Amino acid sequence: MVEERDVVIIGAGIAGMTAARRLRRHDPLVLEASDRVGGRIWSRQRGNLAMSVGAHMFPPPESTVGGMVSAYGLEVLPITGSMLNIALGDRVYRDMRPEALPLRLPLAPRARVSFARAGLKVKRIGDEYMRLAVQQPGESAADVRLRLLQYGGDESFADFLGPLHPETERIFRALCNRTIADPHEISVSAMAALFGHVWDAGDLGRNMRGGAGLLPEAMGDDLAAHIRLRTRATRIAFDGAGVTVEAEGPDGSLTVRARTAICAVPAPDLVPFIAGAATPGLMAALDRVTFGPHVVLSVRTDETGPMPWDDIYSVLTPDYAFNMLFNHTNSLYAGGAPKEGSVLMVYGGASRGTPLLAKSHAEIEALFLADLERLYPEIRGHVVETWVLPWAHAGAFAAPGRWRAQEALERGLGGRIFLAGDWVSDFVSMETAALTAVDAADRVEQVLSRTGAIPQRA
Ligand SMILES: Cc1cc2nc3c(=O)[nH]c(=O)nc-3n(C[C@H](O)[C@H](O)[C@H](O)COP(=O)(O)OP(=O)(O)OC[C@H]3O[C@@H](n4cnc5c(N)ncnc54)[C@H](O)[C@@H]3O)c2cc1C
Repeated sequence: MVEERDVVIIGAGIAGMTAARRLRRHDPLVLEASDRVGGRIWSRQRGNLAMSVGAHMFPPPESTVGGMVSAYGLEVLPITGSMLNIALGDRVYRDMRPEALPLRLPLAPRARVSFARAGLKVKRIGDEYMRLAVQQPGESAADVRLRLLQYGGDESFADFLGPLHPETERIFRALCNRTIADPHEISVSAMAALFGHVWDAGDLGRNMRGGAGLLPEAMGDDLAAHIRLRTRATRIAFDGAGVTVEAEGPDGSLTVRARTAICAVPAPDLVPFIAGAATPGLMAALDRVTFGPHVVLSVRTDETGPMPWDDIYSVLTPDYAFNMLFNHTNSLYAGGAPKEGSVLMVYGGASRGTPLLAKSHAEIEALFLADLERLYPEIRGHVVETWVLPWAHAGAFAAPGRWRAQEALERGLGGRIFLAGDWVSDFVSMETAALTAVDAADRVEQVLSRTGAIPQRA
């Protein structure tokens, strides 16, 4: 069966669906390999609580994603809990200011000096990143992405920090693991983005009432007529003045001929089906895109009274099997609503996550729960549900030299195939994914406005 369209979009994550929304008047066809939309935004509602194994912190209302949240009548709650908490040994050091860390953490004197030095460096790059992130008059979003990737883009974070005291190194490694990488693999630019966005922006973000997955679900319902689930693209090729996409769906093979295409799938999923159409330049660019794992456990508890994590949103956990803990119910109870349990999420990224990918879900659950009990013994006897998700490709991180790929990624292929997704940007988030999709949709609009009808087979 051959279908003809103006635009075919591959992938129904936030990027693919943002593009589809903008191109709705062209009747886009969205192919999605899995049996659900949303990709790395995934949650399950449990009464007033929601368990989540993917994105959870939403950008402000004036952002692209924020605009879609309002358009679908969804509600986000400001995160009120403290962000900067660190568990060292069996103790949680709470509510800290970044500049107080070297003094308050239980470190050897040399480690304190090492920490203070590294902290000053990190503060400088976070501030500089936020300054560089401001779009100047006449600049495109792509110009800003390139500038941000170039900032410290040839140096690894480990080289930038220089030798650290081992006690300091373990804390910075845990922070790096949050960005899905280890210090020697990731560029200064990518770590500057983390410090700039998460710590220096002064905006703690927001959680969605009912779970982050409500946004992609609403988008999926809205775009249902355009989306083909369980349909995996297997090949894309140029065809006359358009493109042909081959896919495998529930009813067998499908061929779509389209004037334009947007590939909104993570780079590791893109490479196998774009290889035949791609130029050596694009393949070299894709080779520079590096992804890392996050092994995630979401835990629901049933307590009705206070717990030590109640007014905390996140804890860095360098000494545990996971490197981060989040309390997703913090916003829910901030207004004094009666307690109906909690939802915590822990994850292990990069070198902490990689060995876990070979383990069974039961093994991961047992390992993480044992460490969670060590961190918060009060949780014992209260766990009522768990959800393990080992993301082998949780997100991209900019390795040294990654900026050299940017021009080819922004250009796409042959003026017909455009790329979208968080990995096309400098920073992994739903907002950056959506912004690249807005750009890709604009490029498609330009092509469609200057070309004629769907090209006939040569
Ligand atoms: C644990 C975790 C926590 C996170 N926390 C946050 C957070 O708090 N805030 C935030 O903003 N971001 C967060 N992120 C990042 C955020 O989830 C992503 O940046 C964003 O969802 C990426 O969207 P995307 O559309 O680019 O890709 P994806 O969501 O990966 O969507 C790609 C889609 O393409 C489909 N696909 C793949 N191959 C094919 C094929 N051959 N044919 C058809 N379909 C295909 C996939 O099934 C998938 O649905 C987090 C991510 C993880 C993993």
